Amino acid sequence: MAEAASLPASATCPRCGGSFDCGAAGPGPCACSTLTLPPALLAQLARQYPGGCLCLHCLHRLRDAAAAGPA
Ligand SMILES: [Zn+2]
Repeated sequence: MAEAASLPASATCPRCGGSFDCGAAGPGPCACSTLTLPPALLAQLARQYPGGCLCLHCLHRLRDAAAAGPA
């Protein structure tokens, strides 16, 4: 019994507007769970994109940017 049947399996990235599969709405793991993101970046994402996931491409870019230098 899936209570989240109203949620689409694919979501739209609020950062780049691209579509991606959000694991939160599907049976598979969310793309963000396959990345190791620093807590500071997760907190930043939670502020900038409340309640939303980003696509894997944007997560990679943000992680690389966070790792490249001090925020
Ligand atoms: Zn994106």
